[in-house]
Amino acid sequence: MAEPLLQLSGVHAAYGDVEVLRGVDLEVGEGEVVVLLGANGAGKTTTLRAICGMVGTRGSVRLGGTELTGKPTEWVVRRGISHVPQGRGVFGVLSVEENLRVGAWNRTDAKGIEADIERWYTVFPRLAERRTQLAGGMSGGEQQMLAVARGLMARPRLLLLDEPSLGLAQIITRELFAQLEAINREESVAMLIVEQNAELALSFAHRGYVLESGSIVLSGSADAVRGNEDMRRAYLGY
Ligand code: ATP
Repeated sequence: MAEPLLQLSGVHAAYGDVEVLRGVDLEVGEGEVVVLLGANGAGKTTTLRAICGMVGTRGSVRLGGTELTGKPTEWVVRRGISHVPQGRGVFGVLSVEENLRVGAWNRTDAKGIEADIERWYTVFPRLAERRTQLAGGMSGGEQQMLAVARGLMARPRLLLLDEPSLGLAQIITRELFAQLEAINREESVAMLIVEQNAELALSFAHRGYVLESGSIVLSGSADAVRGNEDMRRAYLGY
């Protein structure tokens, strides 16, 4: 069988003496959308940070068969991973367009960069209307869309999204997820999404994992995860 795009095997991570990930096994296939669920403090953000080399890890993280563990974040990003961190992280003192150009830092194809900027303006028309505006003055939803578009400017094979719906009104969240679904379908960008809104994320993802105290306790197709009784009680409230 072909190797998955992303493969975590027995990943441990710690902040000082406190072990936060305790042997995480997780896979994302080419073009697949996978959601990572779990309570506050379960280690979801740390899992994304472990993939990007932003926290010391033991175990194995492989992208397309290449070992990432122990490599600097810049090296990992150049291999095709874009990380959209929690809290958006756009540069508030730069314009929308400047933020998009920063996202293409790893590329030298000037024409391709211009074409991609126009492509994401088409996908996110509100960014086009505000292209010269400072990112810091935009609404939360607009900043989230900019963060996603900026992540895509690197032309990733895998997009890591940390709670994209955080602080967004429900209608904006739905719009953002509809855009993500279209991007996944049309561009085949694989996605690993950490999301509190389990119902919405499972309606869009192909597969899901549930993390509890640093270990995966449930995994399967989105339907199987949604149908699990413990899962329903803990995260879906029915
Ligand atoms: P949330 O949904 O609240 O964002 P999470 O599942 O993403 O939670 P993490 O942010 O990965 O969880 O945190 C896991 C644990 O690691 C928590 O107990 C947290 O307090 C701790 N932790 C996170 N970052 C650090 C850090 N920089 N230094 C020390 N401990 C940390």
